Amino acid sequence: MSTVLLPTPRVRAERALADRHGRVATDLRVSLTDRCNLRCTYCMPAEGLDWLPVEETLTDAELLHLIRIGTSLLGIRTVRLTGGEPLLRKGLEHLVSEIAALPDRPSIALTTNAIGLARRAQALADAGLDRINISLDTLDADTFHRLSRRRRLDDVLAGIAAAQQAGLQPVKINTVLMRGINDHEAVPLLHWAIEQGVQLRFIEQMPLDAQHGWNRKTMITAAEIMVRLSSEFNLVEDSEDREARGSAPAELFRVDGTDHRVGIIAAVSQPFCGACDRVRLTSDGQLRNCLFARTEQDLRTPLRAGASDDQLADQWIAAVAAKLPGHGIDDPSFLQPDRPMSAIGG
Ligand code: SAM
Repeated sequence: MSTVLLPTPRVRAERALADRHGRVATDLRVSLTDRCNLRCTYCMPAEGLDWLPVEETLTDAELLHLIRIGTSLLGIRTVRLTGGEPLLRKGLEHLVSEIAALPDRPSIALTTNAIGLARRAQALADAGLDRINISLDTLDADTFHRLSRRRRLDDVLAGIAAAQQAGLQPVKINTVLMRGINDHEAVPLLHWAIEQGVQLRFIEQMPLDAQHGWNRKTMITAAEIMVRLSSEFNLVEDSEDREARGSAPAELFRVDGTDHRVGIIAAVSQPFCGACDRVRLTSDGQLRNCLFARTEQDLRTPLRAGASDDQLADQWIAAVAAKLPGHGIDDPSFLQPDRPMSAIGG
């Protein structure tokens, strides 16, 4: 009688990335580089920043190793690739295909300014990219230049079209409104989004710019955005959307008379920290339990020193456990993190 060898079930000792306030992190934001080809005024100074040295930046193999620990041992379900500008990372398509080939494949998302995406969107979709968020703050070429200090609006629009053609639907558009610069564009941007079939999400400006120029008094609030949009559109809160929101940062409104939804991310005026399910890995291998964290857990040093997966997972668990209940922007003692948004991974 021949012996039938049954496949051995894969043993998974998955532990949750839980903190002391009842939240569980399942969404990993990975910064692939701190470099960017734009110089948005609310993010970076005109001259750029001191970029991280190459030898301090995780290689693809190191990144993949840490992502695998997250997905196989720690319950990470979504990996969002960001930066800096993630399209500047060489071999991004290959990295996406390697993440897609992991045994516990996460959903893979990309946040990008879309410069160069026109010729890469299809390859990224083919490699396994599931979702895309594209940043676009204006439809006016001069305003684009004033905001980003580069003349690349046409590249971004071509990238958005290519993402749609590649089936990365729905393309979500991230927009930051700046007083006196592009805040008059809330309504035209929503008209455009409806026409194009993309989902617009307005994000309140946060104190994460390298120049420390953020000022709460001049920030365009979610309430102001609502007033502006309501002058032209009837925005309806949708109970289904509210239930489905879960940990999603955007509050969604349906544009009455259409199937279109617009999101408002009131990160400053109505923080949603209580529902946060995010943890971040910087391109130099530092784990951050919050965008605004003032401490980091170094995973690169133990990784390079040969720590085991369990040891790295333990450090990761400890870092998330210590997550504070909120970002604390309203606290009198609030201090901006040392790293700007571009080096954390937005
Ligand atoms: N380069 C990519 C991009 O443009 O999407 C990814 C990184 S960028 C830091 C990610 C997002 O953060 C962009 O949508 C950008 O507009 C947003 N962002 C940057 N600085 C911000 C700030 N101070 N407040 C709010 N959003 C900010």
